[in-house]
Amino acid sequence: MRLGLILAVVLVAVGIRTLGGLGADRQAGSYVHDSFVMGTVLNIKVRGASRESARQAVGVVEAEAERLHVLFDPHDENSAISLLNRTAAGGGGTVPVGRDVARVLAAAIAVRNSSGRGFDPALGPLIDLWGFSDESPASEIPDTLQLARLTAELAAAGRIELSPDSATVLVPSGAGALDVGGIAKGYAVDRAIEILDSLGIENALVNLGGEIGVLGVGSNGRDWRVGVQHPRLAASHLGVVSQREGMFVATSGDYERFFILDGHRYHHILNPESGFPASGGAVMSTTVIASSCLLADAMATAAFVLGPAGGIRFLESQGAQGLIVYASDGDRENGEITYSATSGFLSIMQPELDGRPIY
Ligand code: ADP
Ligand code: MG
Repeated sequence: MRLGLILAVVLVAVGIRTLGGLGADRQAGSYVHDSFVMGTVLNIKVRGASRESARQAVGVVEAEAERLHVLFDPHDENSAISLLNRTAAGGGGTVPVGRDVARVLAAAIAVRNSSGRGFDPALGPLIDLWGFSDESPASEIPDTLQLARLTAELAAAGRIELSPDSATVLVPSGAGALDVGGIAKGYAVDRAIEILDSLGIENALVNLGGEIGVLGVGSNGRDWRVGVQHPRLAASHLGVVSQREGMFVATSGDYERFFILDGHRYHHILNPESGFPASGGAVMSTTVIASSCLLADAMATAAFVLGPAGGIRFLESQGAQGLIVYASDGDRENGEITYSATSGFLSIMQPELDGRPIY
């Protein structure tokens, strides 16, 4: 009952919705499954496969997402991330890592370096201080002295690096604590698509809390269509993206985890430079299209922090397409909504800022 309620609430809250309507999902050869993984909803659609093979494949994907959740959980003392964080706290060292941690850290480090601190995977202490990682949602501004101290420590800390052969991570002493929440869901989508493909599934869509990958085609043999969530109108989208295989979409939004205090929104995407929720340019959401979901996910977080102009320059420099939705007058609660976009994004989707109903 409780899980059902949470599922329903989260389904409304996830950044991107898949379109097609319930009727289309009931077509012959279509299998749809929702579950709750990595703190959000995992929605998988499979078309053109037998019900049994679709069910089995979806089960393998769910198990993989659970495995990745445990592996990347900074609050599980047995996780791979915790081992790295203990090493940082205990004087530093060189730690052997498996393929998943290596792939995620390689992308996280690449986006950290290319975005000029828009993205910093070592900001775990700041996320913990704000309480955005806890089960109970954060509701107050942390002690500002402590916040300033942790932010300064993070700025001065040595950076985690991956060895050239990707087999080990070099952890400097006091290197912050990793929190890969801004990239882990994207990686889980990449793995899901790899798994479905290797199991012979030809047509599928995987949506994990707004990070989306596809195989083949959707209903009636047409490209999969996904709606980009409107950041302020819960039941509306900004437009529809025709998503082809090899194209991944990720959205970061200030509506996912937040609290409002004195009319100001405090949300879970932090500016590593200030220690506060990113507010430069009054960004509400970013949507990025890239060649892997983990890169799209990390770049969406980075572009959010870099703001409407810097974020677009950054995405263009990385050859990614993206949309940044923000308040033109700086008032994210009641102000006028506008957007900036890479030139390529607008040929994929024209945003309708008044919103379009989802069904
Ligand atoms: P969403 O939940 O909207 O998909 P993101 O993909 O941007 O959002 O992920 C937000 C998470 O990323 C936070 O909960 C935190 O774990 C982590 N995070 C927040 N700010 C940053 C940042 N500047 N760099 C790297 N990771 C971040
Ligand atoms: Mg992200």
